Amino acid sequence: MMRIGQGFDAHRFTAGKPLVLGGVLIPHPFGLEAHSDGDVIIHALCDALLGAAGLGDIGLHFPDSDKRFLGIDSRLLLQKVHTLISSRYAIVNIDITLLAQVPKIAPFVEAMRRTLADDLMIEPSDISVKATTTEHMGFIGREEGLAAMAIVLLESKI
Ligand code: MG
Repeated sequence: MMRIGQGFDAHRFTAGKPLVLGGVLIPHPFGLEAHSDGDVIIHALCDALLGAAGLGDIGLHFPDSDKRFLGIDSRLLLQKVHTLISSRYAIVNIDITLLAQVPKIAPFVEAMRRTLADDLMIEPSDISVKATTTEHMGFIGREEGLAAMAIVLLESKI
């Protein structure tokens, strides 16, 4: 049996914080405001995985009221989500879209695919990471922040 899940996340740019996307440090003057490191790609991906498995969402498992998750590396959240789903489901493929006017992420896409694949114990070829601008429209176009969407296909192991 196959199950599909989708996730979405958005965060505002803030000064004085590193920008981490898909688990990869990206050179940029702004990071993302968040309780965690603000990695919108990983947050959207976690929600897609949890959604496909029918296990709620990232806020349910890692509440932003919990001090244990303050400033946390989102890769740790992704690894925990993987633990939650991996006994019942195998990941078939993942497709991620980053919505960003800036920065350009093309030079970092392969590193993101490798990083995410490592955390989920799959192959980089099972993960697509791409990006689009919004043609200068809306909060993304005004360079106020970033958003990401993820879709995941799971296959039941049992
Ligand atoms: Mg988030």
